[in-house]
Amino acid sequence: MRTHRLLPSLLLLGSLAMTTACSSGSSVTASGTAAARPGASTTASPARTVDPAKIKGLQIVSDNSESTSCAWATSYPDVPGATAMADAMKKDVQERLAIFRESCDNGSADFGGELNISHQFLVASGDVLGVRLTTLGGAGAGSGLGRRTYWYDGRAGVSRTALDLVDSGSQDAFLAALKSGLEGREGTDPDTLAQAFDDRSALAGELVDMAFTADGGLRVTFNPGAVGAGAAGSYVVTLPRATVTPWLSAFGKRAQEQSVSPSGSLDLGATATPTPAVPTHTASGDDDTDCEQVKCVALTFDDGPSAAYTGTLLTYLAQYDARATFFTVGQNVVAHPELVRAEARAGSEVGNHSWSHPDLTKLTAEEVAYQLNRTSAAIKAATGQAPTLFRPPYGAVDSTVRHATRLSPVLWTLDTEDWKYPDASKVAQSVISKVKRNDVVLMHDIHPTSVAAVPQILRTLSAQGYHFVTVSHLRATM
Ligand code: ZN
Repeated sequence: MRTHRLLPSLLLLGSLAMTTACSSGSSVTASGTAAARPGASTTASPARTVDPAKIKGLQIVSDNSESTSCAWATSYPDVPGATAMADAMKKDVQERLAIFRESCDNGSADFGGELNISHQFLVASGDVLGVRLTTLGGAGAGSGLGRRTYWYDGRAGVSRTALDLVDSGSQDAFLAALKSGLEGREGTDPDTLAQAFDDRSALAGELVDMAFTADGGLRVTFNPGAVGAGAAGSYVVTLPRATVTPWLSAFGKRAQEQSVSPSGSLDLGATATPTPAVPTHTASGDDDTDCEQVKCVALTFDDGPSAAYTGTLLTYLAQYDARATFFTVGQNVVAHPELVRAEARAGSEVGNHSWSHPDLTKLTAEEVAYQLNRTSAAIKAATGQAPTLFRPPYGAVDSTVRHATRLSPVLWTLDTEDWKYPDASKVAQSVISKVKRNDVVLMHDIHPTSVAAVPQILRTLSAQGYHFVTVSHLRATM
């Protein structure tokens, strides 16, 4: 399998501050790989941090495999009112995933080993929503590192591209400034730049990642290979506020304003913002189940929380006084801390399943620590308690991963492979037909069919005398 060291860049997006002031009116740096390290991630973020928990009705749409032989994880946000934007992201995600899965199934030569699409909110305030999707790996022509920003204009009720931030009458001046910002950079040459900037329609296809810095500058990122040698990585040009403001479109000015001074809550004019009820079941004290005396099983649910399904799952568990272990993904925890809190309140255990579901064995120790620490901090912020367990995505763990964290790794003894098929009764049967005492069962609460399988599992196994305990409880009493 070809390893791809591009993955680490994923960890850092939105947390790199690489531009410096420059008297010429633009400043430029490349996101060289040396700088793109989690160790450097303590530098100030160029954009304000958005708290996704404040976005009413937000749903994170995620879909992951849990197998190293075809490792993929995708996510994008669906925000009420911005349906057109969610549709655009869905299309992008599904196309890339289809190509990847096909090459994976065929064992094709350009199979990239892993596909990871994660999301980051840039602005979610007033009538402006901005999101960046970051793709790493993949297969075929779309493989490698790719970032794209999506914008939604709640006032006009339309989806906008990155280039829509700039007024069409000012594009010549804008492009000239970008070009001069790139001139003389390592990995670029005058011919390549002239060529890239002469072909306007091709150039528009490359100008897909733009976002405002906290002080109102416009940060334009060219994906690898767009304007220079692919091996040189991404090129970033930041045009200072004073330079870029006259060139912005009316929407661009509003996006800039909401980036610099967010006005408060996001309002895209949605007629309905579904906010699913959060179960309030509260466990009565510590679990005193003695797994030496009775039959125990630890149900585990990965990849959530999911706004659509996790609440329902908690309701099912409460009906049987069952405790479970949730291996949560950080980018979902920050979107729905109230669900993670409900898991803990119900006596279930909350574990760490990384920030964005990469194969940790392809990362450096620093990058592994970043993925896990950021998620543990989100879990602690939600529940008041830091996790002690982590489940490596795809079950992929090696000595580098183990030594990069104090969390204890947890795999499983019974794999339902529920992510492969949308069939609740098949999921239920895969547990009921194979379960044995002290099993750790792997399921995923981002799939409606997996959650729908749970009542039958609880009913049948309860009748067989099983008790449903957390992983830590199982370990402590065995
Ligand atoms: Zn997973």
